[in-house]
Formats: sequence, structure tokens, C-alpha cells
Amino acid sequence: MTATHPGAVVAGGLDVARLRHDFPVLRAVVNGRPLAYLDNGATSQKPRAVVEAESDFALLENANVHRGVHTLSQRATARYDAVREQLRRFLNAAVADEIVFTSGTTAAINLVAQSYGRSVLRPGDEILLSEMEHHSNIVPWQLVAEAVGARIRAIPVTGTGELDLDAVPALLTDRTRIVAITHVSNVLGTVNPVRRIADLAHAAGAVVLVDGAQGVPHLPVDVQALGADFYVASAHKMYGPTGVGFLYGRLALLEAMPPWQGGGGMIQTVSFEGTTYAPVPARFEAGTPPVCQVMGLGAAIDYLGQLDWAAVQRHEAELLGYAIERVGTVPGVRFIGTAREQVGVLSFVLEGIHPHDVGTVLDLHGVAVRASHHCAQPLMRRFGVSGTVRASFALYNTRAEVDQLVGGLREARKVFGS
Ligand code: PLP
Repeated sequence: MTATHPGAVVAGGLDVARLRHDFPVLRAVVNGRPLAYLDNGATSQKPRAVVEAESDFALLENANVHRGVHTLSQRATARYDAVREQLRRFLNAAVADEIVFTSGTTAAINLVAQSYGRSVLRPGDEILLSEMEHHSNIVPWQLVAEAVGARIRAIPVTGTGELDLDAVPALLTDRTRIVAITHVSNVLGTVNPVRRIADLAHAAGAVVLVDGAQGVPHLPVDVQALGADFYVASAHKMYGPTGVGFLYGRLALLEAMPPWQGGGGMIQTVSFEGTTYAPVPARFEAGTPPVCQVMGLGAAIDYLGQLDWAAVQRHEAELLGYAIERVGTVPGVRFIGTAREQVGVLSFVLEGIHPHDVGTVLDLHGVAVRASHHCAQPLMRRFGVSGTVRASFALYNTRAEVDQLVGGLREARKVFGS
């Protein structure tokens, strides 16, 4: 059963009603209510064009890449590499060889940690993270730090959910080799001043990895302007498929990095006496890549490319402002994260009610949110909570969906008392 959501309107110059037709799942009915999908930080919905690009490829053109002389394989290879070039343009990388396909953000960070990290880190060296990192940008560094005897440090987060920049100079020492920070916090929505931190890190002789998982869905990204040495993200949070993401790396860094995973596709010659490796990016793409998903990622970039980004950003900012205002009227709401620059995400607790209970009542209202620690336990500890309720927005969300969220929160208040 499906229903059209009543709040689909032209907003901020963006024809949201028309856009919503591209995402059939948004017509779903959940527990008798029109679905209000506000869990885009976990994964965004995919437009029909993305799913069709994957299925058309699988049904009509499927072949492995970089292996065959036959026509289908050559076509698949050309299309696969064309998506690499699309990503280069999307990120303003200097050359397409700076783009490595991975299975997602997590895999990309592990790649950098295990290849770059392991090759440069010495006992006593330091890796600087921040208190607002997703576990994917903490644990891979802990694994390599443990292996080489390096030390992890973290930039503190202020009460408003911003990085404490005053603390950065003292945390950057002559032992800091890597600074790894998120572009946008998946819990707070804070947009971090990446360029400023990158400048400080570079002056201290460190390289900078930016976790862009929550950046690319909301902000135009220019890796060169950001000063990122590495930038990583997942397609499934930017209207693309699961199972694929990317690592951008400055060419000189990638070229100096040893392989991490071995297998087909990443070698030049193999013998029992010794193996030589392919140039980048193939060196880091061992085994059959997610070819169908890469086609879907290409379609997602095309989809984003035909939108008026200024209008998308205006719409998302208006919607977030509206959500802050309306959710703030619910008795007992405490926002976690009130940064001056915030996109896409609103986290809060309802005093006296466990976030899981809030999430369950919201689900009964057809509202999909996330209620958990959001894979950011150090940040939860920083704010003294076990978890939060997180509403996270995409370009297709509407004011009516925010109203539905607020209705569900008021119901939770009634059910659990004040
Ligand atoms: N980093 C951030 C900021 C995230 O929000 C997420 C996922 O929620 C990740 C990393 C991990 O992404 P993935 O699970 O797609 O690898």
C-alpha cells in the first residue's frame, strides 16, 4: 500500500514534490501512516535512476572489468573507469588515478590506516582524531597504533558540539603524523572547519584524512580547497548503492603507499620469487570490484549533478531550522549539538525517556529515526548520555514529515509521562 505525503511542496526553489517521485519507497505506509524517512544519516534512499543503472548493467551488460579482451568486458571497463572520472570531477581531484573504489568509508579508512599508517608510523608517533568521530574513524587507527606502538589523541568537543580549535595547537606535536577528522558529524551535524585544521596539521608535518561520509550528501566537496590529503565516503549515504565507496588520495601519497590487500587486479607480475604491483589506483583494488554498484554510484553522481545545489542547500537549511524550532517545543527536549554550522542532522534526548522507547513510539507513527549511540560512544560519553534520538534529513524531506516527527514525540511524552 502506498500514500503520497501531503507535505511535498516546492521549497527553497527545489521542487520536492517532483523529486519525491524519483524515490518510490517514500510512498510507503508504515504502521498505517505515511512513511516519514528521517534516517538518511544511516543510509539515504535511492532514486529509480540509480537502481535502474545497476539492474540494466546486471541484466544487459554484465562483465568483469580489467580482465577480458571481449567486447562486454571492455565496455564494462570503460564504464567503470568513466565513473572514476565522474568522481574526480565531483570532488575536484587533480587526476582520476587519485580515486580508489572501496566497499565504503570504513574500508577506505582501514586501507589508509593499514597501508599509509603502517608504513609511516613509528613507536611514539601520534595520530590526532577528535571526540566526535564515528567508530570507523577511531578503531582502524587504534588497530594500527597498537601494532606499531603509536598513540591516539583526540581534539575535544565543546558544549555546543564544535571542535575546540584552541586545543589543536597543543595537540599537534612533532610526533603527529596523521590527523583524521570528520567533515560533518553524524551525531551533531556540525560542519568542521576542515581547511583550518588541515593548515595547522600541514604546518606540523602531518597528513590529513577527512571522513566525508556525512559531508558529500549535503555539501559540495572540493578536496583541493579543503586541503585534504585523503577524503573518504560511502555511496549509500549519497543516494547511491550499498557496497561501494571511495578513497581520494593525493597522487604522490598513493604512489608511495604499499599495497594492503593482495589478489587479482593489483599486480604487475607474480612469481614465487617475488611479485610486483600495479600502479595506483589498481594497486588498491584487489579482487573483483563491485562493478554493478559502481554503475549505480555513477548514476547517483549524475542525479546530484542535475540538481540546483544552491536550492538543495537552501531547502535543507530551511528544513533543519524548522525542525529545530518545532522539536524544541516538545516538553523535555534537550538538543545535543547546537553548532553554528550544522547540516542534515538533529540529535536530541527527551528527558526521562530512553531513546529506544522514543524511537519505538515514532516508528508506530511511521517516523523512521535512529535511536542509539550512532557508533560514536566517545561523543556520547562527552555529553553524558547513553544515546540520542537522531533525525537526519535528505533533499526529499518535507515540513510535513517534521510535523509528523513532532506529533510522535508528543505521543511519546504522553505514553511515558513527563
Ligand atoms: N563515518 C561517518 C561519519 C558515518 O556517519 C558513517 C556511517 O554512518 C561511517 C563513517 C561508516 O560508513 P560505512 O558504514 O558506509 O562504511
